[in-house]
Amino acid sequence: MPTMDYLIRSSRVIDVSGGDVSGASGPGANAASAPLDAEVDVLVQGGRIAEVGKGLAAPKGVREIDGRGNIVLPGLVDLHVHLREPGQEYKEDIESGSRAAAAGGITTMCCMPNTRPVNDCRAVTDLIVRRSREVGIARVLPIGAVSKGLEGKSLAEFGEMKEAGIVAVSDDGRPIMDAGLMRRALEYGKTFGLPVVQHAEDLNLAEGGVMNEGAVATRAGLRGQPPQAESIMVARDIELVEWTGAQYHVAHASTARSMELVRDAKKRGLPVSCEVAPHHFTLTDEACASYNTDMKVAPPLRNESDRQALLQALADGTVDCIATDHAPHSEVEKDVEFDCASCGMLGLETALSLSLELVNDGVIDLRRMAYLLTQGPARLFSLDAGIGTLAVGSPADLVMFNPETRWVVDRNAVQSRSKNTPYHGRKVPGQVLLTLFGGNPVFDRKGLCDE
Ligand SMILES: [Zn+2]
Repeated sequence: MPTMDYLIRSSRVIDVSGGDVSGASGPGANAASAPLDAEVDVLVQGGRIAEVGKGLAAPKGVREIDGRGNIVLPGLVDLHVHLREPGQEYKEDIESGSRAAAAGGITTMCCMPNTRPVNDCRAVTDLIVRRSREVGIARVLPIGAVSKGLEGKSLAEFGEMKEAGIVAVSDDGRPIMDAGLMRRALEYGKTFGLPVVQHAEDLNLAEGGVMNEGAVATRAGLRGQPPQAESIMVARDIELVEWTGAQYHVAHASTARSMELVRDAKKRGLPVSCEVAPHHFTLTDEACASYNTDMKVAPPLRNESDRQALLQALADGTVDCIATDHAPHSEVEKDVEFDCASCGMLGLETALSLSLELVNDGVIDLRRMAYLLTQGPARLFSLDAGIGTLAVGSPADLVMFNPETRWVVDRNAVQSRSKNTPYHGRKVPGQVLLTLFGGNPVFDRKGLCDE
């Protein structure tokens, strides 16, 4: 099917791939050139970015789209999603997850290996890559398991999974508790050019806690787990990074102390990075007081001082990217007592709006937001050069949204197969109007691309 060509007129276009807005200690950005942030036109031809500039001439047969009042960013990049395929398609599959991504402006996502079977070998990686290409709604880049079966005992086959297309390794959902195994994972990761992503949680300290330890947990009568369960793991891992020199990434970092540790490691020049999930910078443990199981997540929602530390770290460059940890669960896992409910929240369809709240609250500016959602993540996992940018010749992955429109999150109106959003009823800014993936409209709220 031939792709249509599009000319998006007069949007505010932000592409930070040419500039350094990574923050004081962010990964290697090119300070010599400037980021693009201007009201310009974007020409999409043959599925690629053909031209970006003011007053572009419209080639014959191109569809012109009035972009005034809207913002255009490169398609967003999410390093942390759970697509549940293979094995738990009743919660989500690659197609429904890709539709949710498109509705949220996300065109590239990295999917965690805790599927059934686990993605710990070439066959499963192949299956995910093949299936996502068939679906063709978003770019899905698998993350391979660190250990076979996520059992934390012996290393999975990094080399063959890398050949099949993984971009990182992780046992996410479970921490790598064994320091010896973590050392070897870092060493092999370095050999194969694969960052090791840690779900930092000392299970002995966490002791089955179902929410953050503190006054709210005590009042609610729920078992808490301390923030140190996370930071002690981060501290141990940073020691191993210093030893091995391997690239290490903290998934869904959620505590003030984790931020201090990552900030300090970066100052010392260590290849340490971290992501923060929108739910950790927008919600606190107070949300668990109502026993709403959609608020149950790992790591748990923290207290206000932890949240404030995340905001600071998002602004000062300690945080490298915003990642959703999109984790769909059905009523079977969520319509139960808080103690018994599975951990996890939807994230793909709300990440952009919640990030815009940061901008509206003056925590970060739009360019920094664009970095955290596009170039930051793309650089961390060394994704292909055309991802997270609107540079001429890149695949035409982009999102156009209206920053002024406010909308109410509705769990019954999501694209995801599951409904476990913690934001049901919340009014949020920024409505996605159009998402192009490889030049194809994969989400088109108002039929702007219709024939
Ligand atoms: Zn995790």
